[in-house]
Amino acid sequence: MVAVLKNGTGPTVLLRTDLDALPVEEKNEVPYASRVKAKNESGQDVSVMHACGHDIHVTSMLGTAKILATLKDQWRGTLVIIGQPAEETVDGARAMLADGLYTRFPKPDFTLGLHDSADLEAGKITYTPGYAMASSTSVDLIIRGLGGHGSKPEATKDPVVVASQVILALQTIISRENSPLDPAVVTIGSIHGGTKRNIIPDEVVLQLTIRTYKEEVRQRIIASIERIAKGLAAAAGIPEDRAPIIKVIESENAPSLYNDPQLTERIAAAIGKAIGSDNVIKAPPLMASEDFGHLSLDHQIPSCYFWLGSIEPSRVEASRKSGKPLPSLHSSLFQPLPEPTLRTGVKADDQRGVGIDEEVIRTVSYDWQRLCQNRERLRPDQGYDSITPSCVGDPVATAPGSDTLPARQGGRRNEPQSLNNHASDSQAKSRIRLKRPPNERRISSWARAARPWLSSILNARATGSWRQISVCLSDETPGM
Ligand SMILES: [Zn+2]
Repeated sequence: MVAVLKNGTGPTVLLRTDLDALPVEEKNEVPYASRVKAKNESGQDVSVMHACGHDIHVTSMLGTAKILATLKDQWRGTLVIIGQPAEETVDGARAMLADGLYTRFPKPDFTLGLHDSADLEAGKITYTPGYAMASSTSVDLIIRGLGGHGSKPEATKDPVVVASQVILALQTIISRENSPLDPAVVTIGSIHGGTKRNIIPDEVVLQLTIRTYKEEVRQRIIASIERIAKGLAAAAGIPEDRAPIIKVIESENAPSLYNDPQLTERIAAAIGKAIGSDNVIKAPPLMASEDFGHLSLDHQIPSCYFWLGSIEPSRVEASRKSGKPLPSLHSSLFQPLPEPTLRTGVKADDQRGVGIDEEVIRTVSYDWQRLCQNRERLRPDQGYDSITPSCVGDPVATAPGSDTLPARQGGRRNEPQSLNNHASDSQAKSRIRLKRPPNERRISSWARAARPWLSSILNARATGSWRQISVCLSDETPGM
């Protein structure tokens, strides 16, 4: 989904939120716990939850869209908000770019995104100038041999033994070939071969993930894996026509995420003014990955991506004292605290969206009660259908520093005054385009997740604030 808000001359800023949930059965005893089931790609019923907190991202972005549409007189430029499917499978951003994100819509001068953190207190954010997350490369390595009877090894070339040698030899890529100053990981996450004790199989399949920051390091590691596997196969006497096959799974790859240092420091300082500089913490980079980096077009477009604390502070403190880790993202026990997580997310998003005008933050208060309800309403089992734009909560202008809601003066309920002022803008155009997907089931789950967001922005559009709204569903983008 792409929404464009043009508001005079100024930078074009892209805000990205991801939408997808995970096939995890929620084990939390909280009011918003998901009890939903959905079909997975194999057609099986699986429980789903927002175990990565993408509902927090959607809700933060909703608040941001509302605020920026309401306070158009306080910023200038073009805001592009995207709702990206398929972050978990790291192919949603690429699919949107392939679908014309930067040709059918304004190409951004900056791209911005956030993610909730499962070990940071709610109310805080962390940021990392420079490389912040690693590239992720999925590789299948097929070690082929010549199978036969387990009692007659001399008549075979055993791929199980070669695979074992390859696994150990690959450990030297990082320890002996790579500069310690270039962080990198090679993990062999799965090994499969053989069917029975007394059969030497024809092949063994290894599945690997590679993490690096620099592209040249990534390329060198892929070449090393191939060289080592082929060399050990040759040493074992495996004929050349049965040499190992290395397959890089392009659809699962994500580039490294590079935070433009100047932009990132600028945004961190601005957020610090909104939520207190003590709550904005510089953090070391991670070797985890995500596909937000695609949107920077190989670091050509300055980007900033930061982490939003989402955990009850007392739980974080107890974890630090005891050394017992908190449930991570993707855990069935990941339990974010709606407030002040969402409040912080909206403030931080808003900060970024306005192209960095902290004055807006000081003049905005949020209907917090409603925003918390919104997270509950985003529970799929209550039906995404039931959500309406009004339950997002109306951002309203107040005196600086005030957290109370001002009395409404005229205007219909759920329609902020400043939105009404734009109701006569007949230039506003909207278009919704749906490609017919090959897999209706996938798309319906995507569309269900996107609906509240879409309806909210459509509401803003109906009042004339949004110039162009488009829905892009790509065939390659699963929703859940
Ligand atoms: Zn996530």
